[in-house]
Order: sequence, then C-alpha cells, then structure tokens
Amino acid sequence: MSADCIFCKITAGSIPSKSIYEDDNVIAFHDIRPMAKVHFLIVPKKHIETLKDCAAEDQDLLGGMMLLAPKLAAEQGLIGYKTLMNVGREGGQEVFHIHLHVYGGGAAA
Ligand code: 5GP
Ligand code: ZN
Repeated sequence: MSADCIFCKITAGSIPSKSIYEDDNVIAFHDIRPMAKVHFLIVPKKHIETLKDCAAEDQDLLGGMMLLAPKLAAEQGLIGYKTLMNVGREGGQEVFHIHLHVYGGGAAA
C-alpha cells in the first residue's frame, strides 16, 4: 500500500469505485473515463508501480490478471475486446500502480 496511490485507495475501499470483481489478490472496476462502451481495469491489491518493476514472484499474480480478463469480459457481455497495459510515462501510464485495461463493445457513449 502506497499512501498517495489512488488505486491503493480503491483496492482498500477508501475511494469508491464501480467494482465488478474482487478476490484476495485483485479487484476489477469500471474505468472512470471509459474508452469504449465497456471498459474496466483489473488491478492487483499489491502496489507495484509498473510492469518493469514486476519480478518472478509476481508471475502468478500477472497470470491471474490475464486469465481473469476473459472471464470478466464475458460477464460484461463482451465477445471481442482489447487488453492493454501502459508501461511508464512514455508508454501512456498515468496511474503508477499496475493495471490491465479491458475494453470493447464499441465507442463510449
Ligand atoms: P493508465 O493511463 O495509467 O494506463 O490508465 C489509468 C486509468 O485509470 C485511466 O483510464 C483513468 O481513466 C482511470 N482512472 C484514474 N483515476 C480513476 C479513479 O479514481 N477511478 C476509476 N474508476 N478510474 C480511474
Ligand atoms: Zn498503489
């Protein structure tokens, strides 16, 4: 947990989100600025700043996030969709707590 991290606050429940899934390791919630009709984020509870900071011990966590994407996408009614992880400021990352974007279903309204 990092004190100034918005996703740590969301995973801890101190900032509300439109949550669609939670277990011991991850939470998933709708993106506040959706890029598509359905756009949610899969976020580990562990604070890791970027994919570059992941280590071998994070393999199961990262694999779990990838395997959760199709399960939650299906629950959200998506047949085809995109998954994306922005890495570093130069890669478009704005929130420095890793998260997997899952989005699809056409342009946001
Ligand atoms: P990044 O550019 O870091 O890959 O993506 C960060 C994403 O988090 C953006 O799509 C942004 O809309 C979303 N986001 C930022 N702050 C909040 C928040 O407080 N709540 C939710 N639900 N999404 C957020
Ligand atoms: Zn964090």
